[in-house]
Amino acid sequence: MILWKNAQIHTNQKVVSSMITDKGKIIALGDTFKDFNFDAEINLYGMHVYPAFLDTHLHLIGYGRSLYQLSVRDLNEKQQVLNFLKDNINDEKLFVENYQALGITKSDLDLISKDIPIILRHSDYHSFTVNSYVLDKVGIKHDTGILIEQSSIPVLPLWSELSKDELTKMTELAIKKLHSFGITSILTDDLAYFNSYEETLEIIQSVIRKFPMRTHLLIHEDVLDTYLKNKPKESDFLKFNSVKTFYDGTFTSETALMYETFKNSKSNGERIHSKEDWERLLKKVRSNKLNISIHTIGNRAFDEVVSSLKQYPLLSGIDRIIHASSVKLESLDNLKGMNVALDLQPQFISSDLPWAYNKFESKPILYPFKSILNNNLQMALSSDAPVEIPNPLLGIYSAVTRKSNYANESYDMNETLTLKEAFDHYTKDAAKTLGIDNLGEIKVGNIADFVVYKHDILNTPIQLLKEQQVELTIINERIVYRK
Ligand SMILES: [Zn+2]
Repeated sequence: MILWKNAQIHTNQKVVSSMITDKGKIIALGDTFKDFNFDAEINLYGMHVYPAFLDTHLHLIGYGRSLYQLSVRDLNEKQQVLNFLKDNINDEKLFVENYQALGITKSDLDLISKDIPIILRHSDYHSFTVNSYVLDKVGIKHDTGILIEQSSIPVLPLWSELSKDELTKMTELAIKKLHSFGITSILTDDLAYFNSYEETLEIIQSVIRKFPMRTHLLIHEDVLDTYLKNKPKESDFLKFNSVKTFYDGTFTSETALMYETFKNSKSNGERIHSKEDWERLLKKVRSNKLNISIHTIGNRAFDEVVSSLKQYPLLSGIDRIIHASSVKLESLDNLKGMNVALDLQPQFISSDLPWAYNKFESKPILYPFKSILNNNLQMALSSDAPVEIPNPLLGIYSAVTRKSNYANESYDMNETLTLKEAFDHYTKDAAKTLGIDNLGEIKVGNIADFVVYKHDILNTPIQLLKEQQVELTIINERIVYRK
């Protein structure tokens, strides 16, 4: 039994100074406790305690990889990226993440080297730009080496050739970084991208024993058969959530399925599955009594996904629409009463606007957070790391300010959330979308996962929010991070 004292604990009702936890649960909240026999008393010196955060859409190992290897996240001119590549060339390989599609081609990369593989992973994680060495190695002919969406798939095995040891280090790095952001629960998509389903699962299981993280796994449709043949045992810290699939593409690649037309390509985007394939997948998911989580970016994709979910309804649990970046307001009405959670990434506002609007002949509605809230729909906010940095305070900042990183301007302020609303959707509302009702709020009976800040983050001027740093992260009443 642990007493956490001399704190400002933000419970679901009021602020109190003390809390007792036992066996990983909160058992009492108040201001003075006597006649207890505590195993430990932890003085929090007046600091502020909140429920820990969840991140309900990310790629754990992919995020670890982005911490482990080179990234050009902050470079937004072609020449800067080429200079960076020249400075970092070595004799083996040059793999770089978070490249922002600045028009570099295979001839630019060949000038840097034709003798080692050079791969630039685009920041949307759906495309690659490569040199001719890579094209030869994977046996494809291509004029520019800019491989968008499906055409990038042959490069994946080369890009993903990593040893078990490297993957383990990446997973550890990722979890430690998430702890430093106050995150103790994740819904992650990893199982289909590395050497094997079994190895990836083994890595995650062994790392979370050392560095605890409540890990909910998406089962990518490519590994569904393997999962069905060998359903591993779940634990408090490892659960299988739902089948992950894609309905459409992205704005960057102009493959999001939209009602509006993309200016450049004159297209409306594309569907990843044929109609037959899509129905086969939904039938298979339902016949195995599973839920589904669908990557859905475009507003037309959204409507089609909702009508398929109506046609093949779930038996229990919760389905997810991941991203829901563009939604027609009248479509939200269709979702009422369905057990479907929307999983949105507020930092996309800062990264994509106003650039995404400019891709269309007529302006679609993008990232309508407030309308989703007003329709009382289930919503979680998340990062899609490594696409965005998984610090929830950055997401909260974007949801509140709707400010673009590039234009330094705010967009569609009628869709803004308050700080508290955004915070709730990274905590208790996010937990509900995973079907967990005793997490994400400080109250008696709940799981003892919390985060400690020096200042009151819920009453910090929004401009200062991004600078606040976590002092302590506690999971199952155990301190896993200390600043
Ligand atoms: Zn993702």
